[in-house]
Amino acid sequence: METEPKKIAEGLFRLPENDDPGGLIGSRCGACNAVSFPRRSLCPCCLERENVAETRLGREGTLYSFSINQMAPAGFTAPYVTGKVDLPEKVRIFAVITGVEPDESALSIGQAMELVFGPVAMDESGEPLWGYMFRPAAGAPGRGR
Ligand SMILES: [Zn+2]
Repeated sequence: METEPKKIAEGLFRLPENDDPGGLIGSRCGACNAVSFPRRSLCPCCLERENVAETRLGREGTLYSFSINQMAPAGFTAPYVTGKVDLPEKVRIFAVITGVEPDESALSIGQAMELVFGPVAMDESGEPLWGYMFRPAAGAPGRGR
């Protein structure tokens, strides 16, 4: 396996490789069908322990909310956009939003978003850390404003 870029955390996602577009790694409960992200060994809905399996989450969702951040934590550069994206599996994902200006008119609640991967922050030595982000889905209808 080729060396992958340094990630913000292990076990959260698989980067694209060959025909695999990559994706977020969650878990699905075999008892009540609830999906969790990040992956859990215990279902938060029904407390099932035995029958919880890893699952790959969908790459598209809709924007639930977003914020323009004027103050950045160490390793990030302000201003930057974060948001919550609802996936069809009924999971709400918090992530950096990319591909838009850090301006509140650049996004609309409910618009289609797609998962992408790339550097999201820097570690202490200035090396880029890869993570997951969302951006407005390609080919999605305009914002209608
Ligand atoms: Zn469950």
